[in-house]
Amino acid sequence: MNILTFDIEEWFHIVDVPSAKTEEQWGNFEVRIHQNMDRILKILDEKSLKATFFCLGWIGKKYPEVIKRIAEQGHEIASHSNLHKPVFSMTPEEFKNDTEISIKILEDITGKKVRIYRAPSFSIKEENKWAFEILFELGITIDASIFPAKRAHGGFESFGEAKPCKLNIDGQIMKEFPINLYRIGPLNIIFSGGGYFRLLPYPIIKFMMLHSDYVMTYFHPRDFDPDQPILEGLSKFRRFKSYYGLDKSFEKFQKLLTDFDFVDIASANDTINWNLQKTIYL
Ligand SMILES: [Zn+2]
Repeated sequence: MNILTFDIEEWFHIVDVPSAKTEEQWGNFEVRIHQNMDRILKILDEKSLKATFFCLGWIGKKYPEVIKRIAEQGHEIASHSNLHKPVFSMTPEEFKNDTEISIKILEDITGKKVRIYRAPSFSIKEENKWAFEILFELGITIDASIFPAKRAHGGFESFGEAKPCKLNIDGQIMKEFPINLYRIGPLNIIFSGGGYFRLLPYPIIKFMMLHSDYVMTYFHPRDFDPDQPILEGLSKFRRFKSYYGLDKSFEKFQKLLTDFDFVDIASANDTINWNLQKTIYL
């Protein structure tokens, strides 16, 4: 099962960059979301594919037409927070407030209930798993925030499962669609989105896809935009990670959609026999 998802944010929504941290700073940057969405929605339409779009409330508030267009094309709208702050940088109250605002903005645009959530930069970690209780309170029943490996601004290394599973949190069950890992000996390789997808050559990605029975992709509009400006104040490593391979990534993405079948989270959820999936007690 291959699942197609996108995190809908602007090119400058890279977490923890001092020059792009606040809404005031964001207001000074070039707007690229419309042209970047055109590219994505066009190819999904051509391939008759449906995907899950994790959208920032901020995008919905500023450009409701973007969210409207995604929904009108039959895609699923999910929440990717309001202001793209790492969950571990917020108090539970701040997290609740940010998530609630995002859900409200998206629901007001589409008229449909938001039931799926993904944290900015996969920032639900062992120490802030309290976030799940708040997600339940806000009506979220499916989460896709777990990155079960080491990661600079998130990641839940001790999670231990890289397939759809049930999270048992004080008796309540949340369905979890984590990022998949490709294991080679002691190595856990991520290939299905963001910088990893841009970095790896397509034949390697194709090989790993062919040998994986569950793949959770995560693409961003900026992943396919070679003309975006470069944010100031990034370390050399982060600059490499954030901007490498932008010129070739859309071509790779087109190949991926030609070579493999994809579904959105709603269809995946209907297909999975949840009785057979592992339960993780958090
Ligand atoms: Zn994001």
